[in-house]
Amino acid sequence: MNRKIYQCFRCGYETKKSNIQNHFNRKKKCTRHKDCQYTDEQIKILNEAQFNKENYAKIQNGKIAEIITNNTIETQNNITNNITTQNNIQHQNQNIINIHINKLVGFNDDWVIDNLNENQKSNLLVTKLMYTQLIKMILENEFNHNVIIENEESTHGLIFKKINNEKKYEVISIETLIDESMKKLHKQLTSIYDNFSKENEII
Ligand SMILES: [Zn+2]
Repeated sequence: MNRKIYQCFRCGYETKKSNIQNHFNRKKKCTRHKDCQYTDEQIKILNEAQFNKENYAKIQNGKIAEIITNNTIETQNNITNNITTQNNIQHQNQNIINIHINKLVGFNDDWVIDNLNENQKSNLLVTKLMYTQLIKMILENEFNHNVIIENEESTHGLIFKKINNEKKYEVISIETLIDESMKKLHKQLTSIYDNFSKENEII
């Protein structure tokens, strides 16, 4: 027969194991006893500690502080480990960005269209979808990936800029971004057209 008595460290309720588990799993939290001095985190630690044989004995012997201290140190170590891991990941990301940033063109400059061959360029000029096609080709070159937008609902994004030797990301509204992008596309399409005309003596 299991005669062990379990307790709730929040309200002070005492009962057998099966009942206390129901009590802990209640959707609505029980009312804190007026003498309860533990934080929510400590209550959780103590309530759970009763299901561990060693900790249960410590509770019976009043070594509650020991349980709280051990668990708090463990939690802190986990947090520190997490922070270290996150820093490492951040560091790695930083390196990846740095590698690309050397060749990344600024949004304030023209997109790189060196990868387009003459055929693609002349095809652009005869399609009604020239803007769409050009931006698609532009984005095939990763050095043109100078815009960051979190998702379709975002009202703002970030653009990468290179001014002299300064490299920075700048916030831009989606409206301005579309405006600027259309201007850039227009400019580059015009220059493709001009070059094509010159070479083929259309003018
Ligand atoms: Zn309770």
